[in-house]
Amino acid sequence: MILMKDVYKTYANGVTALNGISIDIKQGEFVYVVGPSGAGKSTFIKLIYREEKPTDGTILINNKDLATLKEKKVPYLRREIGVVFQDFKLLPKLSVYENIAFALEVIGESPQKIRTRVMDVLELVGLKNKARFIPDELSGGEQQRVSIARAIVNRPKIVIADEPTGNLDPETSWEIMKTFEQINAQGTTLIMATHSREIVNSMKKRVIAIEDGLVVRDEYRGEYGYEI
Ligand code: ADP
Ligand code: ADP
Repeated sequence: MILMKDVYKTYANGVTALNGISIDIKQGEFVYVVGPSGAGKSTFIKLIYREEKPTDGTILINNKDLATLKEKKVPYLRREIGVVFQDFKLLPKLSVYENIAFALEVIGESPQKIRTRVMDVLELVGLKNKARFIPDELSGGEQQRVSIARAIVNRPKIVIADEPTGNLDPETSWEIMKTFEQINAQGTTLIMATHSREIVNSMKKRVIAIEDGLVVRDEYRGEYGYEI
């Protein structure tokens, strides 16, 4: 599903963010990515949805080698991967419905199918009654639910989330985590970078720890392992 072999990433400014990473993530896994700030977690995640390209090494996503993937095929890869960000990245002038429908409109789905799909994901995240609201009219937790709905509306095989609860209070974070668990329970591979020790320690999932651009720990039923 996601295979990295000896992956390096050095940015244009000379900073080496990843220093030889090899991992294998199978379909349906739930993986936490932990580590100090600046360790390389976001870079690791950006490589998976090809927001960044590796300097060296091999990355296979669903058996497709990203190195030889033609630019015009990148949108197809992105459809297999839903992304959730810490700061939601919703389009502020569009309604909740439109923010989610957008992902389907760009791939030319029929209006009927769009309507059914959008209402289905809104139901899943518990926001059916707020379809006409704009992001500013929602709480942070609700905005994150919208961004989760947007990420899954294409039914991607992989959902990746970069500190999705970073801007949310603990109670709201737990609600969001329950939604992610539900999505994973339906067979979607879930990869999440997080600084939340409480969440990682209570969920007992696979934990990959990255420090200074290297995988220093990779455990099933793992723990957060840091004091802060
Ligand atoms: P984390 O998500 O663990 O905080 P990042 O992957 O964001 O780590 O960053 C790893 C290192 O790469 C840091 O030193 C960071 O400053 C650097 N870095 C991240 N993005 C860029 C970029 N676009 N250009 C240059 N350096 C970057
Ligand atoms: P930007 O990088 O300036 O946010 P993009 O064109 O990359 O613009 O993305 C447009 C919108 O779609 C943004 O809100 C972004 O967060 C979201 N987005 C991009 N890629 C994905 C993806 N694979 N899954 C879900 N949302 C995505």
